[in-house]
Amino acid sequence: MELELWRRVQRESFSKISDAADFLELDEENRGRLLERPSFPFLLPKRIAIKIDKNNLNGPLARQFLPLKDELIGGQGFVADPTCDSSFKKEGKILHKYDGRLLLITTGACAMHCRYCFRQNFSYPEGGGFFAKEIEYIKNDPSIHEVILSGGDPLSLSDMMLENLLESLSAIPHLQIIRFHTRFPIGIPERISLRFLEILKNSLKQIVFIIHANHFDEFDADILSSLKQVQSLGIPILLQTVLLKGINDDLQTLKDLFLGLSSNGILPYYLHRLDPVIGTSHFYLSKEQGSFLIDELRKFLPGYAVPRFVQEIPHAPYKTLL
Ligand SMILES: *Cc1c(COP(=O)(O)O)cnc(C)c1O
Ligand code: SF4
Repeated sequence: MELELWRRVQRESFSKISDAADFLELDEENRGRLLERPSFPFLLPKRIAIKIDKNNLNGPLARQFLPLKDELIGGQGFVADPTCDSSFKKEGKILHKYDGRLLLITTGACAMHCRYCFRQNFSYPEGGGFFAKEIEYIKNDPSIHEVILSGGDPLSLSDMMLENLLESLSAIPHLQIIRFHTRFPIGIPERISLRFLEILKNSLKQIVFIIHANHFDEFDADILSSLKQVQSLGIPILLQTVLLKGINDDLQTLKDLFLGLSSNGILPYYLHRLDPVIGTSHFYLSKEQGSFLIDELRKFLPGYAVPRFVQEIPHAPYKTLL
C-alpha cells in the first residue's frame, strides 16, 4: 500500500490482537479463544471495532475479524487456493478466468483482514501501482470489454496511481466498463475523498462499484453517505456477500442486509458460498442451507433485492448458480 495511505490505515486500525482484546474488554476466557499469531495477519479498523459488543467474540462483526483458534482446525476439502486463482495468472497482475472480463490484482493490501478471505494465501505480484504490461495485455485482446480492479483492495492504491490507471484504461477503445471490487469504505469511508470522486467523475468509461459486506451492522451514516456520493456520479453500486456460519446464516440478518442496502440504492449482486480456504471450516454451511435461505428470502423481498447464490467452481466458465 502506498505509504501515506498505509500510515492512515494503521492510525485508524488495530493491528495488534492484544490492543483489540483490551479495547473489546475481553475476559480471560475469551482471550484464550484468540489465535495469537494467525498465518493471515490481524487487521481491524477502529470504525468496525466500535460496533463490536464488548467481551463477545460470537457477534457477527467479531467473528469476521478476530482470529480464533478455530482457524487451526482442518477440514476435508479446505485448501490453500480453493478457486485455483494461481493457475489463471497471466501477464503480471492479471488474472484472466472468464471470457470478456478479467481481474487486475492491483495490490495485496486491504483496509481490514477478513478471516474467511479466499485470497489470504495468494502470492501477490511485487511492485505496486504500475501497470504497463497489464495495459498492453488488455490492449492486445479486443475481447476484453471489462476490467475488474481487485486485489487486495483497489482503494489501497493512492489517488495518483488510480488516476493514472483509469487514464490508461480509458484510452483502450474496446474497453467499456471499469469495475471496482472494494470493501475499503466499510472500514475507512473517508477514503472516498473529494479528490477520489473527481477522478471517478473524469473517467471516460462507465464505472461500476461492487462493495463487499456481510451484515447490516457494518454500516453507519458516514459509510452510506460516502457511497451516496459515488452513486451521485451515475456509478451503480452493487453488493456482494459471503454466506458465513454464525454471521449471516439466518433469515432476519439477510433480510435486514439486503433490504437495508436496497433502500439505499445498493442492490445485492452475489451471495457467495464460502470458498473453502484452510482455516475457515468454522464458517462452513452446506449448499442446502444456503438454498433454503434464498428461497425463504424470495417470499419477503422484491426480486431485485435477492442476490444470486453462487459458488466459484475452479475452471467453470462463470460463477455457478446454486
Ligand atoms: C468473480 C470473478 C469475475 C467476475 O465475475 P462476474 O460474474 O462478471 O461478476 C471475474 N474474474 C474472476 C477471476 C472472478 O473470480
Ligand atoms: S477485503 Fe476482500 S481481499 Fe481483503 S481481506 Fe477482506 S475479503 Fe480478503
